[in-house]
Amino acid sequence: MSDHYERVKIELQQMKEVENEAAADGEQLSPASVSSIPAEVSFTARRDLSRSSVNGRSRSKSRSKADGHERQVNDKELPDPTAQKSNSSQGQSRVSNEPNLNIKGTARLLKGKTAANGHVETCVRQTDGKCEHHGKEDGSKAAKKRRAVTVDTSKAKTSLEALKMSIRQLKWKEFPIGRRTACDIYWHGVSFHDNENIVSGQVNKFPGMIEMLRKINLSRAVRTMQELFPEEYNFYPRSWILPEEYQLFSTQVQFFSKHIRKKMSLFTFYFCPLFFKIRLLKDNDSTLKPTYIVKPDSGSQGDGIYLIRDPADLRVISGAQIKQAVVQDYIQKPLLIDKLKFDIRLYVLVRSLEPLEIYIAKEGLSRFCTEPYQEPSQKNLSHVFMHLTNYSLNVHSGNFVHSDSCSTGSKRTFSSVLYRLASKGVDIKKVWSDIIALVIKTVIALVPELKVYYQADIPPGKPGPTCFQILGFDILLMKNLKPILLEVNANPSMRIEHEHEVSPGVFEYVPSPVDEEVKVGVIRDTLRLMDPAQRKQHATSNTGGGSPEEAIVVETGSDEKEGMADSLPSLCLKQVFPKYTKQFHYLRVVERIAAIFLRFLGVKGTMRLGPTSFRTFIRNCKLSNSSFSMASADILYIDITRRWAGMLPDSREAGMCLQAFIEAFFYLAARRFKALPLREQVVLLLEVCEGALEGQSHSEKPRTHRSHTHPNPASSQTSAPTTFSSPALTHRRQRPLQLSAKANTEN
Ligand code: ADP
Repeated sequence: MSDHYERVKIELQQMKEVENEAAADGEQLSPASVSSIPAEVSFTARRDLSRSSVNGRSRSKSRSKADGHERQVNDKELPDPTAQKSNSSQGQSRVSNEPNLNIKGTARLLKGKTAANGHVETCVRQTDGKCEHHGKEDGSKAAKKRRAVTVDTSKAKTSLEALKMSIRQLKWKEFPIGRRTACDIYWHGVSFHDNENIVSGQVNKFPGMIEMLRKINLSRAVRTMQELFPEEYNFYPRSWILPEEYQLFSTQVQFFSKHIRKKMSLFTFYFCPLFFKIRLLKDNDSTLKPTYIVKPDSGSQGDGIYLIRDPADLRVISGAQIKQAVVQDYIQKPLLIDKLKFDIRLYVLVRSLEPLEIYIAKEGLSRFCTEPYQEPSQKNLSHVFMHLTNYSLNVHSGNFVHSDSCSTGSKRTFSSVLYRLASKGVDIKKVWSDIIALVIKTVIALVPELKVYYQADIPPGKPGPTCFQILGFDILLMKNLKPILLEVNANPSMRIEHEHEVSPGVFEYVPSPVDEEVKVGVIRDTLRLMDPAQRKQHATSNTGGGSPEEAIVVETGSDEKEGMADSLPSLCLKQVFPKYTKQFHYLRVVERIAAIFLRFLGVKGTMRLGPTSFRTFIRNCKLSNSSFSMASADILYIDITRRWAGMLPDSREAGMCLQAFIEAFFYLAARRFKALPLREQVVLLLEVCEGALEGQSHSEKPRTHRSHTHPNPASSQTSAPTTFSSPALTHRRQRPLQLSAKANTEN
């Protein structure tokens, strides 16, 4: 009792100190200049709001249009409109009853709520939502000595509740309406540009991430990698970009159908029993008639998605406008649990681009369909509750189950799904290892373009913040357990509450234990990893070459505890890169092309290469010769740039974008090193270019590398891989390059 009294006294004292300090410093921005909420009121009232959420007390509020809009932009999931009456503490005790699965490394994960969220078993949830950990006193003393890390939460939007809880657990200092002086961390709800005036500290968004993760751009980035590494990147369904590839899509589909029908008819005639022949004749045989999924480029939450079996069914035009969309092979045989299709939402932290650092949360969410799955047929193509796993759609189905447990219902923890699979004999280490590989490869595909955005927004040498970002990976497991990438969300929903309609138009917010379980851990541990003190200590020495499987075999990865001097629980985020650099290093070929692109782009805040810079590239890399004149280089530039300008209609900047430069680079590589597979051609040309540029660099003053989180793309080529040691080479899939006749004849 006296212990408790002492603790409360200390906490009250600390709270007073923090508030006095803030008042004395005048650190909170004046309410009038930033927000309509008075500073003192917001400081305390908001704390109470988040407490009420933790306590399970609900708040009433009408659904506003603005809120709906924010959800559209910001979230991929709608909050649950149905009440989930259980409070967090119920959730806490509930999970302690869940079965434990003793697999090394996943043991804590599979213990359920407490461990997955990063809370140790001895964690006692108090009424204000704080976790108290036994043996914490030492850590508290140490924390007291250090200056509290400051977090600007004024732009956090829908992630605010989870963020507040995380900051409280870390005993950091929150600035809910901003601060006159700089904060250590800025938490934005939507994009890097939510607040334009940041010149130091760290922002939780990368410039350009939203753009890169739109469906078309993601498909383009992955397809570039598929051209070089078709086997390594076969986790992404074959995709076509509309409207530009409509013709290609129609032709390929027709060719495929004819080819398969011909093959099947011969086969069935000679080898198949009668009943099988009859089955094949049925419309719904997916072998004969594959299905495709059409996704609007800027869509989210399943909006505008539909299935087709015939290119003629594509809805390419909307009003007077041609729709931008991606059409993809539909995965017809997903893994089912209880006869239901489900997908996995995993949280991935990109901690830095240069050097590349990736962490994966050990816990994620599984979202279930609400109608038993059947392979697509003409009859069931429009059954969204059968084919689309989006929470925002299925929550409207009468079959949606709001569960009090993390292992049942229509939204569950991923660990509970793994537990189910393990109990059926599935090798879940292999599943994890494949997922980790998928995540690393996807991020590697995104990095080149992200570096271009980064340099445009924060040119080296100019003051600016460094960046990190939590991404939401949506993954589908096929029947054979192969993970398939569906999409990556730049702004995964970090809401930890559901909406519940108490009366028409009036919604109440109630805590969602499953969301809180997963999301608070992810945010808190992201903050811990971004702690400026830890970042200084953090040496990226872990460039080991273990297999991805080690990620779940090791009981406590050294990175989990690395530099974490306080008594907080182990991190729920697991470092996977640079930990597994050796296995994936050879894939970073496009990054080397981007380094050359950036070198010639300069640091003027542009993202497009002008014709003169392209000429300088050709000249400095010594790529022109008797068979490829500078005039040919000009024609190449014009042809490719013009074509890409047509494909990127909304771009305001003129010149050659990175994707166009990559295409030109592939073309030059193919010209120079004929008869080799594309990836060998490209690597050989890279060696030529890098060799020539290195020679020139020696005579130039070396450029400084500002910080490991601030990529100086001009020098990033030195950190990109310089050796090429790929596994078995595969044959090149030809990129359709349509140079003008003049260019071709000149060459
Ligand atoms: P959105 O951003 O609108 O949610 P997604 O790409 O995530 O778009 O697709 C929505 C849902 O459609 C996914 O959650 C998944 O259930 C289903 N889906 C998407 N792509 C495929 C595919 N290629 N094969 C099978 N199902 C898919």
